[in-house]
Amino acid sequence: MPQGSTTKIAIIGAGSVGATIAYACMVRGVGQQIVLYDVNREKVEAEVLDLNHGLQFVPMATIEGSDDLGVCADADVVVVTAGAKQKPGQTRMDLAGANTAICRKLIPDLVRLAPRAVLLMVTNPVDVITYVALKLSGLPRQRVLGSGTVLDSSRFRFLIARRCNVAVQNVHATIAGEHGDSEVPLWSSARIGNVLLHEWAVPAHGKMTVRDRTDIFVNVKDAARQIIEGKGATNYAIGLATAKILESILKDENRILPVSSLLSNYREGIDDVCLSVPSIVNRGGVETALNVPLNDAELAGLRNSAERIKEAIRSVGF
Ligand code: NAD
Repeated sequence: MPQGSTTKIAIIGAGSVGATIAYACMVRGVGQQIVLYDVNREKVEAEVLDLNHGLQFVPMATIEGSDDLGVCADADVVVVTAGAKQKPGQTRMDLAGANTAICRKLIPDLVRLAPRAVLLMVTNPVDVITYVALKLSGLPRQRVLGSGTVLDSSRFRFLIARRCNVAVQNVHATIAGEHGDSEVPLWSSARIGNVLLHEWAVPAHGKMTVRDRTDIFVNVKDAARQIIEGKGATNYAIGLATAKILESILKDENRILPVSSLLSNYREGIDDVCLSVPSIVNRGGVETALNVPLNDAELAGLRNSAERIKEAIRSVGF
């Protein structure tokens, strides 16, 4: 990106998730130019009007929307949120076929329109969709990533922080693998400040029991279902999580985030699949997937996740 030029974010899909990502970016001052594209013209125009009416209160930006994909031309990052979402009782994997079909139409046109862009996939099942988008785009692997387990990890950190009565910002803990039912909590490397979580025992700040761990992980896995049952969609936390990933890309921050990206010979049994492990994210997209320490159970969990995702990738013809 040449110095002095504005940064442009294109968001595909102006539903609950797309519109909230735009809002979070606008409030945080991420991207000076934000455009939304949706096949539903009335919806995208209404969302953009509402967002524009708040411009007075946030860092300088422009926001446009259209049902013409041309609005995405020359974007620096394209965020894809278009597609079907889970209905109560559905898993994310149930969306693979419908959302792959949308990608088949969208991705080649987006690459033509915004040839320098990093593609950030949010549409579910996000690991499958990231793989599909990578193959359809023909882009180098670094330039196609998925929001992965950034959201799940923030749910995980929130619950640990609440259990131990510490600031969520001081909890360092990751959910890895699939953004979905086979995801894996990396308990062995979880820390509060500099203290490993399994050594944490501070009066009035708790000690994590096996029961606590089970409850916390069940809550993380169940969070989307619980929210969807109550209000039909999850949007705020994914909006903020995606704005943070976008910030790391556009500001070249080299932030370490558990995004989904193509892993090659990551560990035995984890190859040619997109899933999340802590990775360095910068202007080039996802630079390096870190070789994080894993105990035997965590490694077995990640291999299982890889298998599940690969099966779904094959089921949609990739
Ligand atoms: P939504 O139904 O509110 O919005 C989807 C939007 O996509 C709609 O406005 C629809 O008109 C639009 N759309 C459909 N096909 C399109 C196309 N071909 N081109 C452009 N726009 C198109 O759904 P939502 O709640 O915003 O969820 C969107 C996606 O994000 C779902 O797949 C959902 O599962 C996923 N999601 C992912 C995460 C994550 O952590 N990765 C979190 C929450 C939701």
